[in-house]
Amino acid sequence: MKFLVHTYGCQMNVRDSEAVEALLVAAGHEKAANESEAELVIVNSCTVRDMAERKAVGKCGNLIAAKEGRGKTVAPHVKVVGLMGCAVKRMGADVFKSLPKLDFAVGPRRFGVIPRLVERCLAGEKRILELPDDDEVPTGMDAHGGGNSFQSYVTVLLGCDNRCSYCIVPDVRGHEYSRPAREVVAEVRALAARGVKEVCLLGQSVLRYGVRNAAWGPDDPPSPGGYTEAFPRLLEALNAIDGLARIRFTSAHPKGCTDELVRAYADFPKVCRHLHLPVQSGSDRVLKEMGRRYTRAEYLAAVAKLRAFDPEFAVTTDVIVGYPGETEEDFEATRALMEEAGFDNAFVFKYSPRPGTRSAALVDDVPTEEKERRDQVLLADQQVRGQARNDRLVGTVREVLAEGPSLRNAARWSGRDGGNRIVVFESAGTLAIGQSVRVRIREAHPQILIGDII
Ligand code: SAH
Ligand code: SF4
Repeated sequence: MKFLVHTYGCQMNVRDSEAVEALLVAAGHEKAANESEAELVIVNSCTVRDMAERKAVGKCGNLIAAKEGRGKTVAPHVKVVGLMGCAVKRMGADVFKSLPKLDFAVGPRRFGVIPRLVERCLAGEKRILELPDDDEVPTGMDAHGGGNSFQSYVTVLLGCDNRCSYCIVPDVRGHEYSRPAREVVAEVRALAARGVKEVCLLGQSVLRYGVRNAAWGPDDPPSPGGYTEAFPRLLEALNAIDGLARIRFTSAHPKGCTDELVRAYADFPKVCRHLHLPVQSGSDRVLKEMGRRYTRAEYLAAVAKLRAFDPEFAVTTDVIVGYPGETEEDFEATRALMEEAGFDNAFVFKYSPRPGTRSAALVDDVPTEEKERRDQVLLADQQVRGQARNDRLVGTVREVLAEGPSLRNAARWSGRDGGNRIVVFESAGTLAIGQSVRVRIREAHPQILIGDII
């Protein structure tokens, strides 16, 4: 069958969707060029905020309407519609109340069964529900498409045990499980052999790799550099893989910013000097309510440690505005922290209560307009800060992996430097996607750098 997977949400979902596509291809199906030729459509859903869930469920509803010949028929040939991912686990059997004609629904950590579910649907079964348990170890996690992308995500840590007050992720993605290091190393080695230059290791709190369950076994070779912590030791092993140029990872919690991690940044040139370190709030009172397990000072100390090692070290973050009870003073503390931390980029989210979380019991008392205002203030601050951070890089030479020509002007290419900054440059002559180029920066903007190949 010709299939399509629509993905909402985070990089984890992007990765899970890619694995599903690879599993479907291995089962004899074929990726459709677009929706109008797709016969099987799967929507990979997010539930971290209410709006995200509604988008995915709404999309599924439209596809089911198309299947029945109702509505704006975007997908005239669709025969099977499936929903996967986090929203399925949150809704459970209620998913069929919202979508009575859905063919199958499968939660995260169970996506490996999708090819089998498609067969069952084709044999006439309907409304199949597959919910993983919290400790389930998925199958098919190492399936990658044979695409020509030079970048690849690799899941290393599943689930989350942090239980921040506002967050539904632990309920839907289950407990932490670290994949065995030898499995991860084999996967990255295979990717590198296929031409992948850059991997991004994924985990909700990826620096907790190897904490809940051991990632390194007694038969694994000892760390040549004497690393004792599982994650830096993994970086060491991956850094040694031929052909691989860059290693990134996300997301991080300040508790994981250990001396060994900083040593790994120094020891291993392939490890990019960028860390996505969500802060959520700059108010100690709010951080405590959120159950983040660090203070403002501890967070800033982690950032200072990275910048002491390399002043250009890129730090990006997530912030929530309008958490229940967030006062103007709390908000100003967040503003001040963001300035002090000098973030290179920031994603701001308006608080959205999620069913079953601890904070859902609190009154969502910051009015929508006020959340919107705080959001805008932080974004405007970040524009100014991004400009100032990037101005410092004018005249420097950045090592860039070319991602492709710009949509508007094919002579202009873009790529990213190690700090994950977008760099735009004129391409003199032939360039290949994934090629490493050196670019001298001549112009800075809040979100991009512009320069010339040297
Ligand atoms: N595991 C990651 C975050 C995953 S969720 C980490 O802790 O680093 C991605 C982001 O969504 C979070 O960092 C947070 O800023 C935001 N988020 C999570 N739950 C939210 C909610 N209920 N309302 C608004 N934003 C939320
Ligand atoms: Fe959610 Fe906190 Fe876990 Fe991140 S660390 S996924 S915010 S519970």
